[in-house]
Amino acid sequence: MNDMVKQTAGRDALGTFAPKFAQLNDDVLFGEVWSREEKLSLRDRSLVTITALIASGMIDTSFQYHLQTAKKNGITKTEIAEILTQLAFYAGWPKAWAAFRMATEIWTEDEPAQDAKSAHEQSMVFPIGKPNDGFAQYFSGQSFLAPVSTSQVGIFNVTFEPGCRNNWHVHHAKSGGGQILICVAGRGFYQEWGKEAIEMKPGDVVNIPAGVKHWHGAAPDSWFSHLAAEVPAEEGSNEWMEPVSDEDYGKLV
Ligand code: MN
Repeated sequence: MNDMVKQTAGRDALGTFAPKFAQLNDDVLFGEVWSREEKLSLRDRSLVTITALIASGMIDTSFQYHLQTAKKNGITKTEIAEILTQLAFYAGWPKAWAAFRMATEIWTEDEPAQDAKSAHEQSMVFPIGKPNDGFAQYFSGQSFLAPVSTSQVGIFNVTFEPGCRNNWHVHHAKSGGGQILICVAGRGFYQEWGKEAIEMKPGDVVNIPAGVKHWHGAAPDSWFSHLAAEVPAEEGSNEWMEPVSDEDYGKLV
C-alpha cells in the first residue's frame, strides 16, 4: 500500500557537500511528500512534477529522471504525447520540443523486438514479406518469405528471426539443380553435413550443389536475410530431414 519512495540521489550527489539538502531531498521530498500515496497517486505526482519542470524550463537530467519515473508510474506513450502537446501551449513551444526529444527516447524502449525487425527491414532493399507458413514445419523459429522472381529462375528473399534456422535438407536433382544463397542483410550461417559452419554477411554468396545435405539460418543474436535462387533442375525435389540440434547450433559464435 503505502510503500516509502526510496531516494538516494541527494546523498549520492551532495551527501558530503550539503548533507542537510541531501537529507531534505531524500527523506522529506521523496520519503515523506512523494510517499503520501494515499493522498495523491504516484502517477498524478509525476504529472504535476513534469508540468512544473517544463514550465520552469528544467529540461535537464532531473527532467529525464522524472520522465522515466512517470513511465514507471503508469503514464503511457499516448498520455505523455497528450500531456506535452497541451503543455506546449501553456509552457512554451520550444520547451515542449525539448521535452519530446527526451520522451521519444524513453517511451520507444517499449517494443525492442518490433524495433529490431523494422531496423533489419530498413537495412535491406528487399521486403521481409509474409510469415513462411508453408515451410514452417521444416524450420525452428519464425521465418518470412518474399518472392523476388517467380519466372525463369525462382528467387526468394528468406528472412530468419534471431536463432531461427531450417532443418537439415537436400536439394535433389537428376541434373542441374541445387541452390544459390546471397546474404542481403544481417548475420547468419550455412553448414554442410560433416563440415564447419560458414558465417554469412551481406554480399556473401554460397553455391549449394544438388545432393549436398545442409542447413541455413540466422545467428543466435541477429536477424538474417538471404536471397535463395533455385537452380533449374531436371527432376528437382527437396528432401527435409532432422532439425539442427541445439547442441550443434550452440557451437556457433
Ligand atoms: Mn537449402
